[in-house]
Amino acid sequence: MPSKSEMIRINERIERSGGVINERDPNFSTVRLRLPGGSITPEQISAIGRISRRFGISSLHITTRQTIEIAHVEKGKIPSLILAMEKIGIGLGAEHEEVVNITTCPGTERCRLANIATGEILGKLDRIHFGKGMPIRVRIAVSACPNGCTSERLSEIGITGLRVPIRNEGKCTGCGTCAHTCKETAIITVNGRFTLDKNKCMECGMCIDSCPFHIIQGTIPHYLITVGGRRGRHPQLGRELIRVSSEDAAVEIVSRVVDWIYRYAYSGKILTDQMDAMDFSGFQTRIIREFGEDGTESPA
Ligand code: SF4
Ligand code: SF4
Ligand code: SF4
Repeated sequence: MPSKSEMIRINERIERSGGVINERDPNFSTVRLRLPGGSITPEQISAIGRISRRFGISSLHITTRQTIEIAHVEKGKIPSLILAMEKIGIGLGAEHEEVVNITTCPGTERCRLANIATGEILGKLDRIHFGKGMPIRVRIAVSACPNGCTSERLSEIGITGLRVPIRNEGKCTGCGTCAHTCKETAIITVNGRFTLDKNKCMECGMCIDSCPFHIIQGTIPHYLITVGGRRGRHPQLGRELIRVSSEDAAVEIVSRVVDWIYRYAYSGKILTDQMDAMDFSGFQTRIIREFGEDGTESPA
């Protein structure tokens, strides 16, 4: 049993966050865990299983936001369950008007298509923002390339890793491998030479690694930050805010976006629908003025 002071702390946490979700049957709740980026050790996952068994739980649910939900927990057992999870290093998740579980793809650590590493940026964003009380629910997602495995462009704040190809047409043998690789048909033949159509290029970087003669160079990776995406009934892509080339700048800009939402968003309204009223354009101008790098910022 939790001590009295632990009960007070845990009950405050339950009241503040949306990590405990009421079920149809009012006697039961679903407990959502905090799992930044969906990362968990084998020891923790075994322990979650053992603890769940001990509490008579028969079903766990892996969510789309890379967390685990423990379903059908009797109300009276929730504080003890949360305490048991804390002892194995797993905190209570979030789902209210707050910054909820931050999602990432594996990035350069594992994915051969990745343009950026995601482990450190995830750790920083989670430490700074997870569970922060907000007027609206804020989802932050990071994908290391435009394939968008975390659907970051459909999140309130998205980060996408990009690399721009730099072609040396003078050295090109015309083998066509890069054109065949590009899913956007952005490498086209002009006067018998392969040329980049910048309007079609998504800056995924795939052609850079495809050239057997290593003729295509890539810029240093960029972090594209988007704001105001949404899922649900009327999905919409987030608007491009800025591109920057350092992880620290990306983290700082996300903090500015979170602060901007905190100050100017109304509750009860999806961010996408109130960005103009919040003067997104003026906010973007200030961000570009402060963080813009030649050739990397998005057009206002
Ligand atoms: S978003 Fe890109 S880098 Fe990340 S897992 Fe998907 S394909 Fe790989
Ligand atoms: S970076 Fe991607 S979209 Fe652009 S030309 Fe290369 S493969 Fe095509
Ligand atoms: S893969 Fe390399 S050599 Fe072949 S067409 Fe593309 S740039 Fe030229």
